Amino acid sequence: MYDIIVIGAGVVGSAIAEHLSRYEGRFAVLERADDVAEGSSKANSGIVHAGYDAKPGTDKARLNTKGAQMMKQLCARLGVPYGQPGAMVLAFSEADRATIEKLYEQSLENGVEGCRVIEGAEALKMEPNLNPDVVCALHVPSSGLVSPYELTHALANSAAANGVEFRLETEVERIEPTETGWALHTNRGVYECRAFVNCAGVFGAKLHNQISDRKLNIIARRGQYYLLDHETPLRFSMTMFQVPTRMGKGVLISPTTHGNLLVGPTAEDIPDPLDTTTTSEGLADALAKARLTYPGLSVRSVITTFAGIRAHEEGGDFVIGAVPGAKDGAFEAIGIESPGLSAAPAIGEEMGTWAAYSLQLKRKADFVPYGPMPKSFSHMSNRERQEAYERDHEYGRIVCRCEMVTEAEIRRAIREPVGARNIDGVKRRTRAGMGRCQGGFCSPRVVQILCEELGMKPEEVTKFGGASRLLVGKLNEMQPEDK
Ligand SMILES: Cc1cc2nc3c(=O)[nH]c(=O)nc-3n(C[C@H](O)[C@H](O)[C@H](O)COP(=O)(O)OP(=O)(O)OC[C@H]3O[C@@H](n4cnc5c(N)ncnc54)[C@H](O)[C@@H]3O)c2cc1C
Repeated sequence: MYDIIVIGAGVVGSAIAEHLSRYEGRFAVLERADDVAEGSSKANSGIVHAGYDAKPGTDKARLNTKGAQMMKQLCARLGVPYGQPGAMVLAFSEADRATIEKLYEQSLENGVEGCRVIEGAEALKMEPNLNPDVVCALHVPSSGLVSPYELTHALANSAAANGVEFRLETEVERIEPTETGWALHTNRGVYECRAFVNCAGVFGAKLHNQISDRKLNIIARRGQYYLLDHETPLRFSMTMFQVPTRMGKGVLISPTTHGNLLVGPTAEDIPDPLDTTTTSEGLADALAKARLTYPGLSVRSVITTFAGIRAHEEGGDFVIGAVPGAKDGAFEAIGIESPGLSAAPAIGEEMGTWAAYSLQLKRKADFVPYGPMPKSFSHMSNRERQEAYERDHEYGRIVCRCEMVTEAEIRRAIREPVGARNIDGVKRRTRAGMGRCQGGFCSPRVVQILCEELGMKPEEVTKFGGASRLLVGKLNEMQPEDK
């Protein structure tokens, strides 16, 4: 019997679990994928939105502003890459000026400090590579950047280090009230708990509708991106947005926390919530729109394209709190589309407190703050590298040459409390395979290290779980027709 179970290990579920780990009790996170951050939380723009965009008075607006204000300190505590380059929202016609003025008014109502409406000439002075047709812009100095999956991993590690159990490849199929609380029926048996929090992202409504009389519809809205090599000279110091549309915040050009350039996303409603394929039409659309911001944009140095899925609830706000119409102990944080990453620290604190309070759980005396993660080898000075090598000679073996990732860092990523189990898990925790060659050189060594650490055979190692195995057998053991 668990006190509280969190369903879904995205950034929201992990932030709630991390907050719960400060209380006495038995907690678990059930996640259908074989790693944390496998939903929206791994594929998004990574912007810490300041809070000017959400409609004043909504949960979205309140939690966005609060979460963004918490983010810098949270990232410093956990050792997660964070930056605050600022942003501009650009208007290219006088008709769009009204939207810029409205966003400015909203920034005041939502409590966001420092925003200003600037004329085109000032915008161009700040960002000379901008399309000179820019009419005016909203300058948002407090807009930030965060690595979304590194934040999720760090929150999950902190929760696990403080006793929260993570059950991966465990999908909640049915939720049922019991005499003492709730039964969560999964593909791996039944989990009983006194309370649960549904954070199942794009699948959240499926679970909600089983126990609530207020039915919800969550639409899967795909966003496709280009990611450019960090060797490409950055043409902008800030995140460059265009005016938002009915479908979202529009196409942006932005640096990432690791110095790459991100272009996208599209906004397309799709029937399959797991369809993260990119399409030539989608990417062409993103590029055409981004060229309005920067007509000279070239994608010659693209190293990968990817897509993420937004969980858009038709009501337009986050669905957060007690599940309406269900008995006590049923909580949810679903329909968390953008700015959900920015809001996650605030959602974690608020929902975690709410769920713990409902069971009258006591604060722990022995919560151990986790982190910060050690500095990556690629960011160390030569002296720090020497010291790291003297502590651990595996710092002397570079596995990923593009991103300068060492064997010591890969082994540590596998040994973390919620450690990597496959090649993409290593990639997102260490950046091995994130560079120009996209794992062409380092994957074989990463496979070997995974085998050594986890006692697997190379044929069992997957790229991202399920059937995504890279190797099918040894050539000299195969029948001629299989080769
Ligand atoms: C294209 C795009 C761009 C975005 N840009 C930004 C941005 O710049 N800034 C920002 O603040 N926000 C942004 N967002 C929004 C942000 O990514 C999300 O708000 C956030 O990641 C939501 O986190 P989550 O934990 O609710 O969902 P998810 O990360 O999707 O996590 C849900 C988890 O639940 C699991 N799950 C689902 N069903 C079950 C089940 N039945 N049993 C067990 N587990 C289950 C899933 O596998 C998944 O891991 C963007 C989103 C997208 C898609």
